[in-house]
Amino acid sequence: MIEVRDIVKRFGGLVAVDHCSLEVGNGTITGLIGPNGAGKSTLFNTIAGFIKPDGGQILLDGEDVTGLSPHKLFEKGLVRTFQIPHELTRMTVLENLMIVPANQSGENLFNAWLRPGKAKADELAVRRRANEVLEMLQLTHLRHELAGNLSGGQKKLLEIGRTMMTEPRVVLLDEPGAGVNRTLLGKLSEVIQTLNRERGYTFCIIEHDMDLIAQLCDPVICMAQGKVLAQGSMDEIRRNEAVLEAYFGG
Ligand code: ADP
Ligand code: MG
Repeated sequence: MIEVRDIVKRFGGLVAVDHCSLEVGNGTITGLIGPNGAGKSTLFNTIAGFIKPDGGQILLDGEDVTGLSPHKLFEKGLVRTFQIPHELTRMTVLENLMIVPANQSGENLFNAWLRPGKAKADELAVRRRANEVLEMLQLTHLRHELAGNLSGGQKKLLEIGRTMMTEPRVVLLDEPGAGVNRTLLGKLSEVIQTLNRERGYTFCIIEHDMDLIAQLCDPVICMAQGKVLAQGSMDEIRRNEAVLEAYFGG
């Protein structure tokens, strides 16, 4: 589904992503691991259109999407999650979900003023979708809570919820497990699996929690120093010499 071909990204003299090639297969939950500074987040940001690469190509379903804006990629069904921005911590959980589609379609007040009937119908559809998403994430009881009052793990669920508002096909998650307690981690991984199996979402997940990766991801890709070191099942990756060297060597 996503094909990364020979991507290079430099920051000044530093080569953060160094001729990196990999694939995220349709319908998979692909894991991306590697020591700090391996270039994982930079690669994600390049795939999602936030960073322009210095070389190489990104293909989405065979179509060259290199350098497209995040907005264009979102329309094509590719999204990455983000921490809830500061402004949104003072809005409720429900509101955080409801503003996603309007934000993404670049809709403005002028539209609502020109076609009030349509705006009303749109709002109802968005509200219905938001309630579905809350139900799926088991966050319904928190819908009127301010996003800023959620726990770390609940915020992560809401971040995923925001991507679900517009029915994406492929979701990039950068360290969804960071700072999340065990109980919510279980729920998070359940939600990811359900969306994958029942809704056909493809995921690519950067994560340091190897238990979470082992539980969710196949295949797993290991990066180090901007390059792909190894790819395979978690069991294969665990036994790979180059991977062990990257984590524990030198
Ligand atoms: P990872 O997510 O695997 O920990 P990153 O992609 O965040 O790695 O970083 C890869 C390398 O690029 C690191 O050496 C990091 O310091 C550097 N880097 C990342 N973003 C920037 C930036 N915006 N400006 C300069 N250097 C950066
Ligand atoms: Mg990172």
